[in-house]
Amino acid sequence: MSSRKNQLVHFLVSLCVCLLAGLLAVAIFCRPHKTEKPKEKPAPQEVVVLDKMQDEAPVEESAEPEPETEQPDPRDAEFALDPARTEWNYDESDTKVVYLTFDDGPSENTQAVLDILDEYGIKAAFFVTAINPDYLDMIGECYRRGHTIGMHTYSHDYAQVYASYDAYWEDLNAIAEVVKDQIGYVPCFIRFPGGSSNTVSANYCTGIMSTLAPDVLGRGYQYYDWDASCGDGAKHTADELVEATKADTSYGYTKIVFLMHDSANKETTVEALPRIIEYFQSEGYTFAPLDRSTPAPHHGIGN
Ligand SMILES: [Zn+2]
Repeated sequence: MSSRKNQLVHFLVSLCVCLLAGLLAVAIFCRPHKTEKPKEKPAPQEVVVLDKMQDEAPVEESAEPEPETEQPDPRDAEFALDPARTEWNYDESDTKVVYLTFDDGPSENTQAVLDILDEYGIKAAFFVTAINPDYLDMIGECYRRGHTIGMHTYSHDYAQVYASYDAYWEDLNAIAEVVKDQIGYVPCFIRFPGGSSNTVSANYCTGIMSTLAPDVLGRGYQYYDWDASCGDGAKHTADELVEATKADTSYGYTKIVFLMHDSANKETTVEALPRIIEYFQSEGYTFAPLDRSTPAPHHGIGN
């Protein structure tokens, strides 16, 4: 009996040992799975790094210098001669504007005029000639500084320019080539030597202005005479030019196309320019370069 009991006890003890051993084996077997999990933890960090790199990638791309595509100057399209374009949107507002215009240059005085205009932050217009071949580069300089380029004539020789209808166009086309070489296109703005009302042309060709004035408009140009002048067409002191300016503009136009000269013998114009600018400012005018919105004064045909 006792040996049977002993056998039973022995059996139970063995069973317990086996069970414990089994549990231990299971515990050991499962352990690696538990320890592997923490190894997965760095994964989110890797994702973060990837995300960061993805976020940074576009920044790096945009940080790269973009290829320098030079923006076209809007004046190139707006102010170029376009025979098909007939509408000019003239500014009829009540804003007081002076359009300073300089004829007969460029010359040795043009640089000083440009510097004064820069000093006052003013844009103007230059009706150019090729009288002074050494200064033709100044046409490009005027343009680059934001001023409008118009065409006066190549020679400014009345006898030559107004010799005939063909002679006029030959001369205008010659200055057009010069200007195109300087600014890249032929502008639509012109000014007749002596203005459209000149009668001196009658000495060379009767009735030529009656033909030319409508003809230039038909070809897509606009011709600009002027509303007022400082009187520097004749020789004057700077004081006299300032006084002439005040006298000629005293009628109070809202828009004034103002005639001046930057030709070789016009040092007094340069001298008077700051005072002329300040006079207009004191009268409440702002300044603008000529464009297709500038009302075009036409004096009326005199020949
Ligand atoms: Zn002139």
